[in-house]
This record gives sequence, C-alpha cells and structure tokens, in this order.
Amino acid sequence: MTTVFPAWDLPSVPVAGTGARFPVRHVYCVGRNYAEHAKEMGGDAAREPPFFFTKPADAVLPVVAPEVGSMAYPLATKNLHHEIELVVAIGGRGVNLPPERALEIVFGYAVGLDMTRRDLQNDMREKKRPWDIGKSFAEAAPIGRIHPVAAVGHPATGLIWLDVNGARRQQGDLADMIWDVAHTLHFLSQYYELLPGDLVYSGTPSGVGAVAAGDRLEGGIDRLGTLSIVIAPPRS
Ligand code: MN
Repeated sequence: MTTVFPAWDLPSVPVAGTGARFPVRHVYCVGRNYAEHAKEMGGDAAREPPFFFTKPADAVLPVVAPEVGSMAYPLATKNLHHEIELVVAIGGRGVNLPPERALEIVFGYAVGLDMTRRDLQNDMREKKRPWDIGKSFAEAAPIGRIHPVAAVGHPATGLIWLDVNGARRQQGDLADMIWDVAHTLHFLSQYYELLPGDLVYSGTPSGVGAVAAGDRLEGGIDRLGTLSIVIAPPRS
C-alpha cells in the first residue's frame, strides 16, 4: 500500500510469556462500575445497566514493568485524574452475548489507567454534551502487559489499588464491581460487535483524584502485576 505520508505503527500491547503483541482495535470503557466510585461522582449505587464511552486506539500507552512509563500532562485541563482499572482484552468476536458465554471471547487481562480530564468531563456533563474531550486524548489509556486467560484464568476477586508518590489513593476489590466482566460484555455486545483486539476498561474503585507533572503513579491488581507511570510536563 502506498500512503501519502508515512503510516504509524498499529497500536499494540505486549503479552506476558511471549514475544508477541496484542494489536489494539477499539478501546471501550465502562462508567461508574464500583458503588463507592459512583457515589463520589454524584450518582447513586442503584444497579442500573452499565453505560459506555470510548477512547481512540492510539490513546493506548503500553508500559512493561519494571519500566516506568511517561505520560505528558495533557492539553487544556487543570484537573487530570487517575482511574485504576481492570482491562479486559478481547480475542474473539460476538454480538448479543449471553453472560454465561461472554467470557469465551476473552483473551486476557491487564492493569490499566483511564486517565481523565475531569474538569472538561464535568463541563460537558453539565451542558449535556459528549464526554469525548474529557476521556479521549493522547496517552489517555496507559496499560500494562496483557496476561492470557491460559495463565491467569478470569480474575473475579483480588485487590485493585493505586498509589501516587507512594501514598495509597485508590483501593478496592474486583469483587466490588457492580457488573462483573461477563455481564459487562453481555451489555457492551448489545451495542457493538466485539472483535479481536478490542480492550474494555471495566471501571474504577473510589478514590479518584488529581495528579500533577512530576507525580509518579503505581497501581496493580492481584495476579496481573503492576503499572507505573510518571506524569511529564505538557508538550509544547
Ligand atoms: Mn473509568
């Protein structure tokens, strides 16, 4: 194929235990999937169906522990928030998946961060406009290695945590998710054909908060390792 300017690399994420990488197609995210976080965002903990938003595939920022990744403080915000999340990596396809079959299309799991320009998100929410500029921007989706189901199974319980500069900010348990992974994929596959290469950020526990340039974020999930990034100065 001849391109009018050099094509960029396909976004991809390293897979644990192999030299191969997971090519990224779509990035889906779940809103308010832990009751305590739903409350801190001004909602209630009623069990409504989940809702979804997206990030562009090139927002994925792969970081392979023990490396520490670097994310430039994004443009146009004064309130960059961290959201530590379990990421589901899809390896099969499906629409209208019943919950009892939804896990069959999962390739693996990773630790991820749904970085958020909270001020822009809140502005848009108040004006009933789309959230895109709050959630979709360069490097908005840091992610650690993907661990295949063959190695780690389907983690349904386990500690999920995030420290900023060594102080605990977020802590929860995967068992506290309002909708587990099977139900999340059940609902998501009613709106989109899930395809190999899709990533699903499954929501964050409570304790979200702001970070600044120079801050070091380190998070982890039992069995899935850790993810560390430093916030670099904004690009000029
Ligand atoms: Mn999130």
